[in-house]
Amino acid sequence: MTKDNLQNKVKIIIAILEKEYPDTKTALVFQNPLELLISTVLSAQCTDKRVNEVTKDLFQKYHSAKDYAQVNLSELEFDIKPTGFFRNKAKSIKAFCNILVDKYHGNVPSNLDDMVSLPGIGRKTANVVLAEAYNIPAIIVDTHVLRLSNRIGLTDKKDATKVEFDLMEIIPKEQWRLFSNLLISHGRAICTARKPRHNECKIIDFCEEGIRSKGQFL
Ligand code: SF4
Repeated sequence: MTKDNLQNKVKIIIAILEKEYPDTKTALVFQNPLELLISTVLSAQCTDKRVNEVTKDLFQKYHSAKDYAQVNLSELEFDIKPTGFFRNKAKSIKAFCNILVDKYHGNVPSNLDDMVSLPGIGRKTANVVLAEAYNIPAIIVDTHVLRLSNRIGLTDKKDATKVEFDLMEIIPKEQWRLFSNLLISHGRAICTARKPRHNECKIIDFCEEGIRSKGQFL
């Protein structure tokens, strides 16, 4: 499919999914970039609901990067334990908060290169913070965006960074965040990893896997 065709397909998909998910945005509750960065780190292998339950108390207790940098590691581990993988998460949070204090006056940098240089912070997490907390165009390639982009036929890559660059080519920059959130919502609601519900899907006619599935049942 040519780039023009892909761009047209994306336009239609966005229009349809915007009607399906009019309020799409991250489900994580946060007040500032640091809180979103912490929440996103905690959300690895954990539901957003559980993360929000934990951060409700966490953000009452810790107000700055300095607070996380100074707390005893075992105390932080205990505070975030219900999110799972708490030892690695606590280690990472303390490590990057130390750098935020030393290098960035306690603030989260607002550019990708600085953010991914922090320990434990990858492109996905950095792009979540850029898009959702700083309102800077960014494509968030999480497990849903990766899966749906392949199923729909927007990319044939399996590597998240390569998918991010493919999507940048065909999605208007001002819609990067919207598109990511729409695919995440659709991935959770209809196009699930285990059993995509093609017959309930409003974008089936614009999805390669959906079209193939219709062929199978003709
Ligand atoms: S048609 Fe099927 S594979 Fe394509 S987006 Fe919809 S549910 Fe997913």
